[in-house]
Amino acid sequence: MTLNATTRGRILAAADSLRDELVDTVSRMVQINTVNPYCGDETASLEKPGQLDLRDRLAAAGFATTLFEPPADVYAQAGMIGPAGRSWEDRPNLVGELTLGDGSGRSLILNCHMDTVGAEGMTIDPFGGEVRDGCIHGRGSSDSKGNLAVGLFAVRALQAAGVPLNGRLIFESVVDEECNGGGAGTVACCLAGYRADAAICLDGLGTQPIVGCNGVLTLRLDVHGRAGHAAMGAVNAIDKARVLADAMDVLKRQRAAAAEPTMVNLGVFHAGTIPAIVPGEATLAYNLTYTVAEAEQSKRERGAWGSALLREQIERLIADAGGRDPWLADHAPTLTWVKDLFPYATPLDAEIVRVVGDAAAAATGRRPAPFHMLAWSDACHTSLAGIPTVGFGCGLAGKAHAADECVRIDDLMIGVRTVALAIAAFLSTEAGA
Ligand SMILES: [Zn+2]
Repeated sequence: MTLNATTRGRILAAADSLRDELVDTVSRMVQINTVNPYCGDETASLEKPGQLDLRDRLAAAGFATTLFEPPADVYAQAGMIGPAGRSWEDRPNLVGELTLGDGSGRSLILNCHMDTVGAEGMTIDPFGGEVRDGCIHGRGSSDSKGNLAVGLFAVRALQAAGVPLNGRLIFESVVDEECNGGGAGTVACCLAGYRADAAICLDGLGTQPIVGCNGVLTLRLDVHGRAGHAAMGAVNAIDKARVLADAMDVLKRQRAAAAEPTMVNLGVFHAGTIPAIVPGEATLAYNLTYTVAEAEQSKRERGAWGSALLREQIERLIADAGGRDPWLADHAPTLTWVKDLFPYATPLDAEIVRVVGDAAAAATGRRPAPFHMLAWSDACHTSLAGIPTVGFGCGLAGKAHAADECVRIDDLMIGVRTVALAIAAFLSTEAGA
């Protein structure tokens, strides 16, 4: 539904009046360490303190709140290949539910993650939340506490403007999106039955509607040689790993040259201790991105959305390369599929894409182009649960995960204005305005 100009003006004025409080809130949220426990550095923490803080803020805005941890077998329950060995103990999701009017209208999910990447090596105080030069500085300011606050303050702006709405808002602040997580928090929300007529995934950057992302497949190859002295029949696992890495390089070049180029990244190559010893083991780990078209083809030919065909191709490639090497032919490497994060695409003509695009245009005076994000996001999980999903983020390009992470206050305000207008348009009772 289109909002009339008076209502729009009232919402935008209410949003603008909350600017100082928004800045103070984001700064305080950054001061709470919610670094993902699997970040790999000394700053590792838990999301819980941030969730408890946000719970109080949602409750003050009238939300009924629930905290729940993802089940230990969350990926198995969802039929996904997810990262093994992660625990969600003491890492609850926070879900807030708000009934608007008599609740009989439509429903909308706002989703965003509470965890951040690690903070070691940052060049600013990661948990200072300093406000300077029109920005809020610190770990998570851009990715994604600024976006969490955008969701909250969009609702606050609608309440302050007194716009009559009817339906239900579901606010999901989730855990384990970062640091090689697979979005266990959002998967758990889907498994717990949270559904709506549409979802806005508040993550990413650009203050433009995000209508899809690529999938990410992670694999590990453990290559077995024979440890010992080079003169005594040892077999160097690094040499054997290089045979397989060369084969993967062929795939990398093919995929980079495809009509829709994708990435093959050798991110880990572990082996060896000292030069005098022939290493007996080597480990390679790769991330590959893949397209929606590949996931669709897997669905058609293998019955499951995801990377099934790409995995088959890699299994063949490793088997063929190994088969040509006498040692590897007898000592096959161990191939482990670590995780398969699905791609998604929302049609450009989906109502929620139009609603967020119209809202951003009204909030900024210029119409932003919807785009397909290269980085993966939690939006895939709500999308694949059948909820039309659009991404929208206020992060600053180049600053997410950076040593000097920060977010522009003006961008956050574009976010509050946009998301408030989008919620109003989706859940308004205003007749035909
Ligand atoms: Zn993020």
